[in-house]
Amino acid sequence: MRQKIVAGNWKMNKTMPEAQALSSEVMGMVSSEVTTNTKVVLCVPFPFLPVIKYLLGKSSVAVGAQNCSEHDWGAYTGEVSALMLKSMDIPYVILGHSERRQYFGEDGKLLVKKIDKALAAALTPIFCCGEPLEVREKGTHDTLVRQQVEEALFHLSAESLKKVVIAYEPVWAIGTGKTATSQQAQEMHAVIRKQLASKYGDTIAQEISILYGGSVNSKNAQELFSCPDVDGGLVGGASLKSREFVDIIKAMK
Ligand code: PEP
Repeated sequence: MRQKIVAGNWKMNKTMPEAQALSSEVMGMVSSEVTTNTKVVLCVPFPFLPVIKYLLGKSSVAVGAQNCSEHDWGAYTGEVSALMLKSMDIPYVILGHSERRQYFGEDGKLLVKKIDKALAAALTPIFCCGEPLEVREKGTHDTLVRQQVEEALFHLSAESLKKVVIAYEPVWAIGTGKTATSQQAQEMHAVIRKQLASKYGDTIAQEISILYGGSVNSKNAQELFSCPDVDGGLVGGASLKSREFVDIIKAMK
């Protein structure tokens, strides 16, 4: 049975004391909500990782990074490698978020390298894909998302693919308050799963968690998460408030 996951993407928000307070609050409220088949992840800014990792300790909440380099080591000022994350026991890393694609020019070729580095370091990549508004309006969103999935993931063996989490995040829904309807989300998740099945077979495709991201909140989470191919959420703004985030986690049940 595939895992249900709610991952918070804090982006570039919070000071260290605020980060500690938010993590403690989430950890305190969430323990009874998490079962063996569900996972809660806080993807926090790099400088907070060791402190939040220590603070969460052996609780049911895991920590993740929001990016990693395509290189292992060397003269790449400001970068953080998958090996560094691994050396701190960080289990998750978001890759290919639309903000990285838009502001830092990340494309499929680069994401292949980053995904390979993450997997080689035994991290779980949370790979993001999703179409901008103009593509949705043209009606070619299926084609674009399929292309994003294929170019970043289809070089992987089935064994490696099983270690990847996919997040479908329509760009027009990120940070806009405009959520995809549950029907739109389900349709696209089914398209992705079918695409995975055509390359890797149905058994593998059924094992991959596909999260929805884009203005998820405590009011819409339950309907979105009840879709058969939606296995949880990648949550931006609403993960910055403990009560709201925990209410989203509760909607996974
Ligand atoms: C995100 O950043 O991945 C995201 C989905 O943001 P928000 O929930 O704020 O739309």
